[in-house]
Amino acid sequence: MNIEKMQRSSVKGLKPYDPGLLKNYRYKLDANENGYDVPAAAKKEILRRIAKIDFNRYPDPGCSALKELIAGKNGVKPSNIVMGNGSDEIIHYLIQAFTNTGDRVVIPDPTFEVYRILALANGAKPVMVPLDEKFDLDERAVLKASKGAKLIFIAYPNNPTGNCFSEDRIRRIIKGASCLVVLDEAYFQFSGRSFLPELRENKNLIILRTFSKAYSMAALRLGYLIADEKIATVINKVRLPYNINALSQAGAGVMMKLSTDRITGIILREKEMMYRLITETYPVVRSNANFLFIRVKDGKKAKKIFEKNGISIRIFTGGRLDNYIRLSIGTPQENRAALKILKRGV
Ligand code: PMP
Repeated sequence: MNIEKMQRSSVKGLKPYDPGLLKNYRYKLDANENGYDVPAAAKKEILRRIAKIDFNRYPDPGCSALKELIAGKNGVKPSNIVMGNGSDEIIHYLIQAFTNTGDRVVIPDPTFEVYRILALANGAKPVMVPLDEKFDLDERAVLKASKGAKLIFIAYPNNPTGNCFSEDRIRRIIKGASCLVVLDEAYFQFSGRSFLPELRENKNLIILRTFSKAYSMAALRLGYLIADEKIATVINKVRLPYNINALSQAGAGVMMKLSTDRITGIILREKEMMYRLITETYPVVRSNANFLFIRVKDGKKAKKIFEKNGISIRIFTGGRLDNYIRLSIGTPQENRAALKILKRGV
């Protein structure tokens, strides 16, 4: 049996996803996570609730309590929501449910690389559309590429560049495209911007959210989409049974009752300080998220120096992104350590 040959042809060229992160780090600024864990009192409450769970029983398959909370907070109905094991899982379901083999999926470039990987893994055809010179959307190119496509993915703010694309361009893409448009708002608590209010009048719009960033819950893997009920119904056909475990449901149930404003406020103030000081030496993209995209002199050397100092960061290589690094905004201590290295010159 030749396992190599048996693979789906679009999977052959893929490599297992490896974020390539440093293992023994002192400071972790490589994955746009929240530098602050959930508050101690909330963790205690989550653990108390977890202790009451019957581990021998399957979890609530429909995440009903959690969906009620999310629906209430966002002014939608629970039937507009689908929960995922991280928003990654929802991205997978969207492509799985809405594309046939070879169907086009429009993806700006650069952006979150999981869109492309999952398009390929599902046998769809990723159509990469380069961002313009300001890392904004090339509206005409996106609309042109969307002809006959099934999905367009737009990260808002974008990862790795950190900026929010122009609102008007996105609006015209939503109106002008005859396919589904996914607005991935993983970092929306940091940007303070959302397309959620436009959902009612745009039936092709899908909002994607995660608990991994502002909610400090990356370890528990939880994301969700908000969209027209008809879209939610289709996704529910391919969703794995019991895809959200009981621990994650309990965790999010507690965290949903808290406001993320205080911590996001602290992170945003730190980001402004970092931006101001780093732009004195390097080009930095104006960020609407909790990370900065910085062009250093020598990316590979920069990564080595950061790692030597126990700081894990993301480096980008090749083409237009050569020598760009992406730095999460962490705690003040972590940020000072990163700043010290940047100030030395890399
Ligand atoms: N979308 C974007 C734009 C992201 O940057 C990330 C995480 N890096 C995700 C989605 C995935 O988040 P989750 O942890 O919910 O799978």
